[in-house]
Amino acid sequence: MALARIARTGIRRSGSSKTNYTTEKEAFSEGISLYKYPSLLENATGKCNNFYTSKLGNMNSSYFQTRGLQATLSSQLHSKEKIACQQSIAENESTRYPGLEATKAGEKPRVVVLGTGWAACRLMKGLDTNMYDIVCISPRNHMVFTPLLASTCVGTLEFRSVAEPIGQIQSALAKDPNCYFYLASCTGIDTSKHEVYCETAENMGQSNERHRFKVAYDKLVIAVGSDPLTFNIKGVKEHAIFLREVNHAQEIRRKLLSNLMLSQSPGISDEDRTRLLHCVVVGGGPTGVEFSGELSDFIKADVSQRYSHVKDRIKVTLIEANEILSSFDVGLREYATNHLIKSGICFVRGIVKEVQKERIVLSDGTEVPFGILVWSTGVGPSEFVESLNLPKCPGGRIGIDQWLRVPSVEDVFALGDCAGFLEQSGRKVLPALAQVAEREGKYLVELLNKMGKQDAGKAYAAKDVVLGDPFVYKHAGSMASVGSYKALVDLRESKDAKGISIAGFFSFLIWRSAYLTRVLSWRNRFYVAVNWATTLVFGRDISKIGN
Ligand SMILES: Cc1cc2nc3c(=O)[nH]c(=O)nc-3n(C[C@H](O)[C@H](O)[C@H](O)COP(=O)(O)OP(=O)(O)OC[C@H]3O[C@@H](n4cnc5c(N)ncnc54)[C@H](O)[C@@H]3O)c2cc1C
Repeated sequence: MALARIARTGIRRSGSSKTNYTTEKEAFSEGISLYKYPSLLENATGKCNNFYTSKLGNMNSSYFQTRGLQATLSSQLHSKEKIACQQSIAENESTRYPGLEATKAGEKPRVVVLGTGWAACRLMKGLDTNMYDIVCISPRNHMVFTPLLASTCVGTLEFRSVAEPIGQIQSALAKDPNCYFYLASCTGIDTSKHEVYCETAENMGQSNERHRFKVAYDKLVIAVGSDPLTFNIKGVKEHAIFLREVNHAQEIRRKLLSNLMLSQSPGISDEDRTRLLHCVVVGGGPTGVEFSGELSDFIKADVSQRYSHVKDRIKVTLIEANEILSSFDVGLREYATNHLIKSGICFVRGIVKEVQKERIVLSDGTEVPFGILVWSTGVGPSEFVESLNLPKCPGGRIGIDQWLRVPSVEDVFALGDCAGFLEQSGRKVLPALAQVAEREGKYLVELLNKMGKQDAGKAYAAKDVVLGDPFVYKHAGSMASVGSYKALVDLRESKDAKGISIAGFFSFLIWRSAYLTRVLSWRNRFYVAVNWATTLVFGRDISKIGN
């Protein structure tokens, strides 16, 4: 699928699409976003022509094929019709939606930030609110400190220790009269009108309707992250749990504790007991390995004491198609494999063909029953990113230039997991890492503050601005904990470079202190330190709260 993504990726330009078809028209007048209603667009293809040909010359037409449905339609629109369509949608959306209008002369320029992840939060933290108003739109009101998320699944850390409320990261969002946080998802962008269209993350009151609104921007920062890759394997979305958000960690913890208790019920068959006590992790990247390490610590330290009836039956299996921790140094990989085997983790090299309710089917026909399945096989562009008719880089993320701008549209920037350098920039797409996202956020905030100082903060005002040095990423190294107070620290700049790589208890101390100092607020730093100390002295919390 990854290859298919790359093959299908091309340069895409912004723009929405619209046809005369009644169904689609109605959909838009209801404020329905394009990317959620593919069939409407597919119905409309007969009327359309290639929008991009005139702009991009004689590039191969397959270059323009995209997974974004707006683009499927775009590729078949006549230019004039296409432009008329776009205008029509924009008019429809903007007249229908209530919202924040464009800023007026004399008002501060408005930076609209999509997302509350690593990139968005680093940017908002440093944005000069004397120069800009900020509007942040995201379906969650906090940032997740992802490197420590695996520890919350088994109770080594509490959930709130890794969640940083957005109002504490940028206090203007809670206080300033023209700065807002909206609990909503962006569903569309009209770059020509400088507007984003949104839908509240939760239903309003008793009706099932989500409220829709628009926000006009002077500068738009897209930092919406990525989605887990499932490679379209049947049953993954239905039966596996991803480990990306705090609510995923909560679900894992609840299920783990439920299974432990259920397996002790009288009369339960041996087969069911074995299945309930089988934890399967698919994906041997840092997240899968760290989670397996946490599970093994939990089993050794807590299950053995508090669930002694089943302590010898609980099992952890890690399934990986290739090698575990493939981005790490070979020596570290071997260390991690041996260490995890010694900790009781069973490795299976295999390819998952299908996931059923209580079992995994591998490509060689082997069936693996599970009580809990955690899926961690990497990330790819989200449905929302795919739907945007912005240029895309190899891999399908939003294409950016060296200054993190989305070329060909004005005042739009993209960063973090959802963005990657365009092929024409001659740079490699950076890995989906917190350190990349954070540094891009830091770079962009300096750029925006610089623009603000040059009076270029307003829409269309940055044409003659001096941008300065482009963004340069230097990899600081990788770390991963493997359980039993052991970790890996790989300080090489790249996979093929030479450098320091160490493993063991000392690395574990480096891992803990590095992350403790990176936790954003003093409040959470304190929580994390106290949670670690509590776990060491009293063990993990095993109370199952909630359903
Ligand atoms: C368990 C785990 C452990 C990790 N450990 C490490 C590590 O040790 N080191 C490391 O460097 N990296 C690590 N990573 C990777 C790192 O977390 C990501 O690379 C990083 O979070 C990317 O930051 P981002 O800002 O691009 O996206 P995210 O942090 O994913 O944030 C995306 C934001 O956008 C919001 N959003 C989504 N769709 C919309 C929409 N339509 N409209 C508005 N908002 C939207 C989301 O709610 C979220 O707030 C880990 C990831 C995981 C899951």
